[in-house]
Amino acid sequence: MLTAELMKRLDAKEQRIIEIRRHLHEHPELSFEEEQTAAYIEDFYKDVPVDTVETDVGDHRGIVVTIKGEKPGKTIAIRADFDALPIQEETGLPFASKTEGIMHACGHDGHTAYMLVLAETLAEMKGQLTGTIKVIHQPAEEMPPGGAIGMVKAGVLDGVEAVFGIHVMSTMETGKIFYRSGNTQTGRARFKLHIQGKGGHGSSPHMANDAIVAASSFVMNCQTIISRRVDPFDTAVVTIGSFDGKGQFNVIKDSVALEGDVRTMSHESRELVEKQVRQFAEGLETSFGVETTLKYANDYPVLYNDPGVTEQVRQALEEAAIPEVSAVTEVAPQPPSEDFAYYLQEKPGCFFYVGAKPEGKESYPHHHPKFEIDEKSLLISAKAMAAVVGAYCGRGE
Ligand code: MN
Repeated sequence: MLTAELMKRLDAKEQRIIEIRRHLHEHPELSFEEEQTAAYIEDFYKDVPVDTVETDVGDHRGIVVTIKGEKPGKTIAIRADFDALPIQEETGLPFASKTEGIMHACGHDGHTAYMLVLAETLAEMKGQLTGTIKVIHQPAEEMPPGGAIGMVKAGVLDGVEAVFGIHVMSTMETGKIFYRSGNTQTGRARFKLHIQGKGGHGSSPHMANDAIVAASSFVMNCQTIISRRVDPFDTAVVTIGSFDGKGQFNVIKDSVALEGDVRTMSHESRELVEKQVRQFAEGLETSFGVETTLKYANDYPVLYNDPGVTEQVRQALEEAAIPEVSAVTEVAPQPPSEDFAYYLQEKPGCFFYVGAKPEGKESYPHHHPKFEIDEKSLLISAKAMAAVVGAYCGRGE
């Protein structure tokens, strides 16, 4: 009943969701610099009958809104992120970014638009809700350390039973919803290794200690981490993305700096890869007599969807029978990292995907200058999250 009523009201607001999304799309802001966007969100709630609006939550202008149902019940949290990326937009859309070099190229404009209108609709229907819904508007998903960790530290999940998020996906078919249980998105780490050898004349290697040779050995050793150390049924990536050994043909380099990116799909491989990178770096000191300095930093954890909660989400989506949705389908693990993982370290929950592939057009991946979403995905996202809210806060248990 509640879900059906929510759907009806959301249907009537589709155009508004699109308008809000287009406004945000025109005015993107970088992670930890989202001043206008946060102000826009705060302003939106001025006339909305929510119970509380907390601003400046977390590390940079996060906003947390609570909507309390008439009867007691479960407390859940639903989250939308609102930052953009340092990319020059090339879509040619009439509502393309008006800010040089910054673009909503990951769909966070759409997340915020659907969430605002959903929150408003839930607030209008408080009388039929049970429990409490916390709406988390989170900055800075794209930039480590990310906005989520600050929101968690600020206590936004206190008393929360389960937490939910949606990502619209330009590479997944519009009209379908995708979910995965368990480890779903990779955890990420990055490292910098400085190798100090001894410079010298290209003709006299015996008088020097070649940092390039030591660094090359490290790069090759790293290739064995995945092939020889990680469980073949687990998955991980180690990429050395920067090898700064630039010099001149007849000069032996005294030092080299390397930078690497690590992705893992389990807590075990996350620890194992770090241990192995450290071991290879230290080993250079013995093998080559160089000095090494390694800075290794884990950032976003592996995103783990609680199997029980994920099953409830799947059921809620099936039961809602959203007319615009033709299928609710399991999906393979997703390679990108996502700071929603921090919420899921604290509380059980589910982060799932709404297909947003533009119809009859070439689709570009997220973070591409020509990235576009099918705006039909916005109403679908609102309805999908409404179905989840309805399942937790609509039955008066
Ligand atoms: Mn994203």
